Amino acid sequence: MRRQVPVHLQDLQLRFYRTNGPVLPSQPLLLPGMSAAGVLRSRRVLQQLLPGLLASMSRRYSLDVAAPLLRTQGYVDGSWISAASVFPVLDPATGQELARVSDCGPAEAKQAVEAAHRAFQTWKGTAAKERSVLLRRWFDLMMLHQEDLAKIITFECGKPLQEARGEVAYSASFLDWFSEEARRIYGDIVPSSFKDRKLLLLKQPVGVASIITPWNFPSAMISRKVGAALAAGCTVVVKPAEDTPLSALALAELAEQAGIPPGVVNVVPCSRDRAPSVGQVLCSDPMVAKVSFTGSTATGKVLLKMAADSVKRVSMELGGNAPFIVFDSADVDLAVGGAMVSKFRNSGQTCVCSNRFLVQSRVYDRFLDKLGRAMDSQLHLGHGSEPGTTQGPLINSRAAEKVVHQISDAVSHGARVLRGGARLNGSFMEPTLLADVTTDMLCTQEETFGPLVPVLRWSSQKVLTRLGSVPAGYFYSQDVSQIWRVAEALEVGMVGVNEGLMSAPEAPFGGVKQSGLGREGSKYGVDEYLEVKYVCFGGLKP
Ligand code: NAP
Repeated sequence: MRRQVPVHLQDLQLRFYRTNGPVLPSQPLLLPGMSAAGVLRSRRVLQQLLPGLLASMSRRYSLDVAAPLLRTQGYVDGSWISAASVFPVLDPATGQELARVSDCGPAEAKQAVEAAHRAFQTWKGTAAKERSVLLRRWFDLMMLHQEDLAKIITFECGKPLQEARGEVAYSASFLDWFSEEARRIYGDIVPSSFKDRKLLLLKQPVGVASIITPWNFPSAMISRKVGAALAAGCTVVVKPAEDTPLSALALAELAEQAGIPPGVVNVVPCSRDRAPSVGQVLCSDPMVAKVSFTGSTATGKVLLKMAADSVKRVSMELGGNAPFIVFDSADVDLAVGGAMVSKFRNSGQTCVCSNRFLVQSRVYDRFLDKLGRAMDSQLHLGHGSEPGTTQGPLINSRAAEKVVHQISDAVSHGARVLRGGARLNGSFMEPTLLADVTTDMLCTQEETFGPLVPVLRWSSQKVLTRLGSVPAGYFYSQDVSQIWRVAEALEVGMVGVNEGLMSAPEAPFGGVKQSGLGREGSKYGVDEYLEVKYVCFGGLKP
């Protein structure tokens, strides 16, 4: 049986376009500092961007997925539970309600922690092979339902369907990877200085892990943590973001179908209002041993403080402000290709999206010209389920307002708008290219989380010494010595050299200093859920 949730784009706030045609949007397209030529270019770009959006408006969209995958209750101890109230989940492209989800509070969170703690007593003792087989079954089910899971992502988070399919495959790849790693959690035997002793190191699961995740990868941010936790022998309580609980609940449904025992995976969706009280339980309950969080640095600090009282293990994947550096020695076409994938994925809403573009003088104009053309020809706005859409809406109007604010700030400090520059109604934002950007503008100082490309020209390498600590950075160069020098010098957890897309289950993902603690994925990811216990085995006779 399939369930359909109808969504009417007629109600989309973008009504403006139906009556006025693809001309200027209702928000200021003409920004201070924008030349007449800039306005004309912007109109041309809008006309290219908008057909998808206009076509979207005459269509009716349905989230048509297999019924068992569209869950709306919390999942605790192997049962689907209701809460006293519900909160709505909206399609960010249309503002239409997709579902009403149980608004779990501290009581349900506590219930989930207790269930996870009970389940841990047996799950930690299961054979590694058994955990491996269950994770693999979960992976197989995800891939079997890839299309439906992708639709759920597109409808609740707005990203284009093609990207959502990619996220499902990426998300499932962590279950696959950790199903293999589960069988390779080896201890050590360390040579002793004393003949009558053997020194043994055992790796043991830490216990119950609280998993708190953001909306921008509603599936992958969960499986990257939960896969590692389950492989290690830990049990979990997941709190997904208010905007995107449906993907988390669909994963729980598939975990159940895979045969993962009750209490091993629990999901407590909740509204933003209840996040602090649910977070309080998940980060401070004595039965919780570990907190793994992905989200903004500000929230990460709040959770760290809560976890400190009972000295829990923590992993934090925090906010980004990734630099994208183009050296004079770069292959500019390669750099433009890298800029497109690293910037415009999920409409610029990933923590490893390039945030500020620092281009050396000699190639600056060429880079801008080619990037502008690539944006014109490759970016198409629309509902994520529309074929051909590459840019969906931002998650909500607050997100669009932040981008607009950064653009106005930059323009008021002398930046030039080469493409876009405007907020369309709803939370759709024009992909925007800014030239003549400087380091005193907001867009180079804080994370944008939107489709804005601020390009700064530099000639002295001094600008590269003040980039700060961020999860990821990218640079383009064809000079081998320069590549080694810069790769070692950047204060990041991950660096893309002549590459704009680097996430993979085999590679460690994580930031440094205020951009993160710990690593996810790779052979290191499982260590975050393990204690090393030293056993000194003495009294041995010769
Ligand atoms: P956020 O506001 O920090 O929220 C992340 C999660 O924390 C959500 O589930 C949120 O719930 C929850 N939360 C907020 N306050 C809480 C509290 N007091 N107690 C417990 N939970 C709380 O971040 P976001 O805006 O959703 O995500 C975007 C940020 O995530 C960006 O800064 C991005 O760079 C970062 N990010 C980092 C990575 C990485 O791997 N480094 C990956 C993806 C995203 P509600 O949704 O209900 O508010």
